[in-house]
Amino acid sequence: MHAVETVVVGAGQAGLAVSRCLAGQGADHVVVERGRIAERWRSARWDSLRLLTPNWMSRLPAWSYRGPDPDGYMTAPELVSHLEDYAGAFTAPLHENTTVEIVEATAGGLRVVTSQGTWLARNVVVATGTENRAYVPSAASGIDPRIHQLTAGRYRGPDQVPGGGVLVVGASASGAQIADELRRAGRPVVISVGRHARLPRRYRDRDILWWMEQAGVLGQTIDQVHDARSARRAPSLQLSGRAGHPVGLDALAARGVRLAGRLVAADGRRVRFADDLPATTGGAQARMERLLHTIDGYLARRGGEDAGPADPPAPFTAPAGPVKLDLRRAGISTVIWATGYQPAYPWLRVPVLDRHGQIAHSRGVTSVPGLYVLGLKFLYRRNSSFVDGVASDARFVATHMMMRRMTARARAAADPDACALSA
Ligand SMILES: Cc1cc2nc3c(=O)[nH]c(=O)nc-3n(C[C@H](O)[C@H](O)[C@H](O)COP(=O)(O)OP(=O)(O)OC[C@H]3O[C@@H](n4cnc5c(N)ncnc54)[C@H](O)[C@@H]3O)c2cc1C
Repeated sequence: MHAVETVVVGAGQAGLAVSRCLAGQGADHVVVERGRIAERWRSARWDSLRLLTPNWMSRLPAWSYRGPDPDGYMTAPELVSHLEDYAGAFTAPLHENTTVEIVEATAGGLRVVTSQGTWLARNVVVATGTENRAYVPSAASGIDPRIHQLTAGRYRGPDQVPGGGVLVVGASASGAQIADELRRAGRPVVISVGRHARLPRRYRDRDILWWMEQAGVLGQTIDQVHDARSARRAPSLQLSGRAGHPVGLDALAARGVRLAGRLVAADGRRVRFADDLPATTGGAQARMERLLHTIDGYLARRGGEDAGPADPPAPFTAPAGPVKLDLRRAGISTVIWATGYQPAYPWLRVPVLDRHGQIAHSRGVTSVPGLYVLGLKFLYRRNSSFVDGVASDARFVATHMMMRRMTARARAAADPDACALSA
């Protein structure tokens, strides 16, 4: 068993960000990754994907975008390179192809059992992302087995999907982009729409995310929102980084995608949708108007002479959609579930999960001494799970670990018999 002060689990942006902060402190640590750096951007993204955040929004501790197109949108391989270069710049202590199988508390610290050996650590940072298990509604099991089913994380492109029409379930960032791509490839597409976040790509001559940052929306903290649980479950933004590919439901409908309400049941080849499409799209329209109003209010306060004129998209509320669909008659041979993810930590054998299976924490600090988490949705700020948002959480968690280290050293100095792991 190797002793190390900190084990970081996962080498996505969150794991690398905290590793950079720890390296800056000269702290002893390793980053353990079951695949390769940025594994999810290599193996859980479709081929044509471009980030929905502009390139300038890929700032990490002591790192930022240095390419020629700050307002462009990276492909997934480009983000992989961005993160590989980052890890290389500070020689992150990486152990790739190493899966964490158990984390448990022992008298001597946290024991981390991996496929390549065991560490005893004072601290463990869980940075395994939000995509550990795809959430698929139970209705999926009622669908005729002759209909092909897959999740958004396994979708790669239209050529991989059997010929014929596709039912895409979920209309957030992934579902809307996948529906758009399949329709453009000539497929008949029906999209089942649940709660979603309608947004224009640009507003007043700027990227909407630029405005959201300037107006303080992305940096809003969890203690500033009315309902933390609902804020953490908010749908991803209905945006695309592919130029000329707006993915609002109005744009999809204009391109021939059929809109339906939330999928509620399936029996063989028949599926049922809730009669909620006008209400759901009306709600998304109202939330978008509130956001644009917040931006306008920010501009009014700071003086908006340099901003372009207000140019909100035309209001969109969908008419009622079908409540029943016979998949075979509609020519649909594939169902794609773009219905999000749920937490899954089967290897975490410490009592930190709440009744929803999520790690309970305050700003990434759990109730188990030395156990931290990063990269969760709205961990502390609205942008905590974005590439651009994890830096401040990583700094906070690394500072907390440094304080623990200093306290342990002070205790060890006061008690020469004490055995401090990293003293
Ligand atoms: C389709 C999609 C598009 C997105 N687009 C954007 C975007 O445009 N801009 C943006 O800012 N954000 C975007 N996000 C959100 C977010 O940035 C990503 O989800 C990002 O991958 C999260 O980074 P992370 O480091 O928290 O987790 P991940 O990137 O998921 O990294 C976690 C790592 O942990 C590893 N791991 C898991 N379990 C273990 C284990 N037991 N042992 C060892 N290693 C383990 C995994 O292999 C993985 O590499 C997108 C998300 C999705 C799903």
